[in-house]
Amino acid sequence: MSGAGSQLRDPPASVVPLLDELRRFMDERVKPLERAVLSQPFVESLPLLRPLREEAKRRGLWAPQMPKAWGGQGLSMLEHGFVSEVLGAVPFAHWVLNCQAPDAGNMEILLHFGTPAQQERFLRPLVEGAVRSCFSMTEPDRPGSNPTWLETRARRDGSGWVIDGTKWFTSSADGAAFAVVMAVTDEDAPPHRRASMLLVPMDTPGVRLVRNISVMGHAGSDWPSHAELAYEGVRVPADAVLGEVGAGFAIAQERLGPGRIHHCMRWLGVCARAYELHVERAATRPFAPFVPLGALQMVQEQIALSRIEIHAARLMVLDAAHRIDAVGQKEARDEIAMIKVFVARTMQAVLDRAVQAHGALGVTDDLPLAAFFRHERAARIYDGPDEVHLAALARRALKAHGVKVP
Ligand SMILES: Cc1cc2nc3c(=O)[nH]c(=O)nc-3n(C[C@H](O)[C@H](O)[C@H](O)COP(=O)(O)OP(=O)(O)OC[C@H]3O[C@@H](n4cnc5c(N)ncnc54)[C@H](O)[C@@H]3O)c2cc1C
Repeated sequence: MSGAGSQLRDPPASVVPLLDELRRFMDERVKPLERAVLSQPFVESLPLLRPLREEAKRRGLWAPQMPKAWGGQGLSMLEHGFVSEVLGAVPFAHWVLNCQAPDAGNMEILLHFGTPAQQERFLRPLVEGAVRSCFSMTEPDRPGSNPTWLETRARRDGSGWVIDGTKWFTSSADGAAFAVVMAVTDEDAPPHRRASMLLVPMDTPGVRLVRNISVMGHAGSDWPSHAELAYEGVRVPADAVLGEVGAGFAIAQERLGPGRIHHCMRWLGVCARAYELHVERAATRPFAPFVPLGALQMVQEQIALSRIEIHAARLMVLDAAHRIDAVGQKEARDEIAMIKVFVARTMQAVLDRAVQAHGALGVTDDLPLAAFFRHERAARIYDGPDEVHLAALARRALKAHGVKVP
């Protein structure tokens, strides 16, 4: 849906060859597997999908968001935005290129806060795609929207730490090699300095995967899954702490900034795919002899609304990416908050319209729409529910007028 003549909506020349290669790879190798992969548990698709990862490496597409020195493609945020949009069309395409959540976020924080020894042990195999990881912060009995208030504790014991607590919605824990666990290390510190992040190998005694939580009728397995985890007397060495002791909240903010924009970029791909299917359906489905569905004005209105909203969302995301590259994510926090809310809502509306236009076919698994619909409802909840971002935006606006809102 891009067009020539706009600096913002066209990809920078630096990324055009990569995008051309990526589109070929998606059309030739990834899209043809979509139906098979979506119709069975992900773990059973691994023999089909692993060769694609090797091919992505050979074709110079691997880990686009990571620096070249680490085996990635060294893309800027804006360049990655265009790549992620293409990948978003297929639910598992980010995994094929090793830029999927939650691993991409963990790579980011290991790159910025890991010691050389932590990077060798945890980051290197993660970037190579030899292992997966998970991020374990949210708890069943505490509000995820207030990550300064956690129950999980890590207490000093000799030279190391002992972790106790329960987490849930730790995505992709099933089969992961390690977890980044957020735990309170100093109860008496100010709220934003209470917790730390600890690197915990999943085979450490005391780590127990209680269950893969059933979400929208699917328990999932392997990468597309969300686990409840018990940490029971989990002993890790002193050097398991990522960054400084007490810096967990600050690192979480660092992780969530790029994480949010990565999600938004992926959602643009979801929107583009849903829109493409929507228009195709309206153009080809007969409503009456020789009359396509798209001849009906109410159907046209739905197409037009999606087109407008996707266009607005896309420009907002590209602008936010541009600002992050130019001034950093802290300065771009308003733009990030705006797109997190706007794009998630746009995607929900666009998917809903596309499903509706397909009638019964829209809710089947013959098309990717139902899978998108199931997975992406959560977009308005994870990485900060809508309300958290709306409140933060309004608070900053009011602060500029001297009003301090608690
Ligand atoms: C599919 C999925 C994947 C996830 N993956 C991970 C993961 O890998 N690791 C991880 O640690 N967590 C993960 N999460 C958890 C996610 O981060 C939390 O669900 C989120 O932070 C919200 O926390 P909560 O569920 O405890 O809801 P709560 O904090 O209890 O909030 C419930 C509702 O209250 C309202 N609310 C909250 N704050 C405000 C406010 N300030 N103003 C007004 N209303 C408000 C909102 O409507 C919100 O949805 C995942 C969640 C989902 C659904």
